[in-house]
Amino acid sequence: MSLMKLSSRMARIATESAFEVLVRARELEARGRDVIHLEIGEPDFPTPRHIVEAGQRALADGWTKYGPPKGLPELREAIADDVSRSRGIHVGAEHVCVVPGGKPMIFFPMLALLDAGDEVIYPNPGFPTYESMIDFLGARPVPVREFTAESLERALTARTKLIILNSPQNPTGGVIPAADVRAMAEVLRERDVVVLSDEIYSHIWFGEPPLSIASLPGMLEKTIILDGFSKTYSMTGWRLGYGVMPLALVDAVNKLMVNSNSCTASFTQRAAIAALRGPQDDVTAMVNEFRRRRDAFVEALNGVPGFRCPLPEGAFYAFPNIEGTGMKSKALADALLNEAGVASLSGTAFGEYGEGHLRFSMANSYENLMRAVERIDGFVRLHCR
Ligand code: PLP
Repeated sequence: MSLMKLSSRMARIATESAFEVLVRARELEARGRDVIHLEIGEPDFPTPRHIVEAGQRALADGWTKYGPPKGLPELREAIADDVSRSRGIHVGAEHVCVVPGGKPMIFFPMLALLDAGDEVIYPNPGFPTYESMIDFLGARPVPVREFTAESLERALTARTKLIILNSPQNPTGGVIPAADVRAMAEVLRERDVVVLSDEIYSHIWFGEPPLSIASLPGMLEKTIILDGFSKTYSMTGWRLGYGVMPLALVDAVNKLMVNSNSCTASFTQRAAIAALRGPQDDVTAMVNEFRRRRDAFVEALNGVPGFRCPLPEGAFYAFPNIEGTGMKSKALADALLNEAGVASLSGTAFGEYGEGHLRFSMANSYENLMRAVERIDGFVRLHCR
């Protein structure tokens, strides 16, 4: 067969290195090496039992057919209630679109909104899909290291179409302080821009609760709230996410769903209703366990020569500065995997401003996290300046 010629846009799409590192780590394991996995951003807890049972019941009851492209009405209702309560706003089910995972709620709004040359302001270091999709669609990436009213104002131009916020944040674990969210809303209120507020970690925070920019006056009309079930309910493999957005965008996302997925799986949506309407004890227990791990892991990391790690305020990632080791991020991440048996991600997997950092996912047991720091410490003391 002749060489298959891909479209030119395929040269502008990136992959996610968490999956690549996982493959390399699995290869090492196949050769008999012991690897501690701190690379993948997936809660290590099982999906709560009552949610699994609701999914099983739905299968048995015949929820195995196409459903409405925007999602089952009962789930959209449950989401509208949950988002209204947790963000202190009032949104109706007509503003909700259910999609297969959080990621489509990044891709679809961007497809719906961006023309070539439109500028998108987004976090760097940040979730790699943002930058990848901006490039893919021929829009202009405008990276921002830290979101404040000042940095936002500096980045805004007449061509700015979309601003992506993510709090609690991947990979830093940072939560944007409420005062900064308020100040950013002041900057944006009168502007003709759209905000994609990625709140996939909305339930996983340890100090000040994250403030959704959508809850501030004049902002709901121009904001897409992205959230989902992957992290909060440990349902990464079920592929369930959603967006709450203005009606014009609901219509656009609906058309994109019709043309790409038809609908999100019906029985998983029944399980999602049970997740939102049922007991939340498992979520609380998971967040408490993440806090326990965070406290011990970050304290131990700060004892490693050349590592400086702020205390993450949300999500389940530690993002230490490792410049003091004298090594570049990618070289250190590779060496820790190959020499010390600890899989982590280079900060540069999250954009060029991630240089000087590593990301560790704390989605592994307390014991394994402590063993990992011992290995990292041993490696750094032997090999770094
Ligand atoms: N947004 C952020 C910031 C994430 O970290 C992730 C997953 O890692 C997602 C969105 C996508 O979540 P999902 O697995 O539901 O597509």
